[in-house]
Amino acid sequence: MDKNWMTELASHYSRLKQQYPHDKHLIIFDIDGTILDMRHMVLYLLKRYDQDHQTTYFNDLELSDINVHENDLVPLFDMFDVPSDIRESLIAWYNTTAWSSEAMLEAHRPFRGVLEVIRWFQMQPGTYVGLNTARPEMYRTDTLRSLNELGQEYKVHFTNDLLAMRESNDHKALAAKQAGIRYFQEQGYRIIAFVDNEPDNLRVVSEIDTERDMLLLHAETLFKSKRDSLPNHAIVGNEYDLTALISKNALPKHIEFVWQSINNTPYLEQFLLSDVYWGEFDVRLNPFNGELILRGSSFQEQALQPEEEFLSLAHALDTLRYKNKGIKLDLKGGGGVIERILDVALTYGFNGSKLWFSGHIDHLHKHDFKRLALAHPGATIQCPVDFLAPLVIHKPQRARNILDRLTDWGVNRFSMDWHTADLRHLFDQMDGWGFELNLYNVRGLEAFLQAVLLQPRSIASDFDFPKWGYHATAAENGHHRNGSRRINKKVIASM
Ligand SMILES: [Mg+2]
Repeated sequence: MDKNWMTELASHYSRLKQQYPHDKHLIIFDIDGTILDMRHMVLYLLKRYDQDHQTTYFNDLELSDINVHENDLVPLFDMFDVPSDIRESLIAWYNTTAWSSEAMLEAHRPFRGVLEVIRWFQMQPGTYVGLNTARPEMYRTDTLRSLNELGQEYKVHFTNDLLAMRESNDHKALAAKQAGIRYFQEQGYRIIAFVDNEPDNLRVVSEIDTERDMLLLHAETLFKSKRDSLPNHAIVGNEYDLTALISKNALPKHIEFVWQSINNTPYLEQFLLSDVYWGEFDVRLNPFNGELILRGSSFQEQALQPEEEFLSLAHALDTLRYKNKGIKLDLKGGGGVIERILDVALTYGFNGSKLWFSGHIDHLHKHDFKRLALAHPGATIQCPVDFLAPLVIHKPQRARNILDRLTDWGVNRFSMDWHTADLRHLFDQMDGWGFELNLYNVRGLEAFLQAVLLQPRSIASDFDFPKWGYHATAAENGHHRNGSRRINKKVIASM
């Protein structure tokens, strides 16, 4: 099987990092066809040509029709019957319009996953991401502006000193690529990898990399030069896959991870076998005997099932008592639940930094939050704030006042559903205000890693990551559909 280029990149990086821990490590990306999917630009420009010239040649053109390089449009012209006498002027119009500030801002779109990969490296200590492009210097400001606009929601930022460009139109593109590599070497960077979609570029760069330290990665998108030019040791890839790049042991240590909705025995067993520190339980009152039980849905949302049994909170806490675990109690009720929870937590020896409460303002009021904070100094006290999303974005001052009030009540962590509309915008604003943030309902490994890249204080997930040896069982919402009570005994690799 071919090696995955992202996995190779990760292991090459970690090897060099170990070998040269004090060096400034640099990964270099080409821009067009490597970071940016130029088909979007072609589509935008040809549609705009029609608009500006009141023609209809490209009415039926779709993204999937575009399988030619952006500088070789003739096959598209043939496909859409563009008359031969206007082709020359169309290309002239295209070439001037393509690099206008407006088109660069409007039409440039990144490949899926590439900005996340860049973010991952920008997050690593002593590690930098450089850009090496054959775009001429005259586009420097627009290049940085458009890439930083695209990068913003991923927390990606490119700086002027890490952008190498072609000196002028007279400077040959291949020579410019070599000059770019030398520029970064002169700045004292150890170049660990160079990613480009043109085989010719990779070839000329390999010619000056005599140490063979540099991993050459070929982004197999649309390219003009011959594939034969590719140096033998280049690794080919076509997907920027975070799950191939980031391994379990590379996760940042400062983010807390929470195994969410552990309301049944199979989940509890899996959680115990994992290295995830926090386990989250949905706590509500059993209406028939007043006991605290674990159940995700209310009895209104989900009727009592014929075979349904509950785990009691006391049982779960007793099981976890002498383990190195913290418990997160999602309080699905106000007064009655609070009343009992304070005692139960203490009885089983959970307090301070091993304890985390979460409650929605629909259930918990000012005095409830204050009681929790007073009874358990050092505990995390969390409130979901998805209900504030429209205010945070449209009336930030009003949202800020509400958040400050919640803080006065003792809330020290605000939580947001991963699926909240406009989440990145919301997160950015809340993060900018300096609040500690939790992301919850982060399902699947790719989403989990995307959440890691935002660097919240904590992430709650179902940890259904087969790639890491974690498996979710058939259990859902804390009880078993189809009456299945089989326990998944599969041994789970520790995290
Ligand atoms: Mg390119």
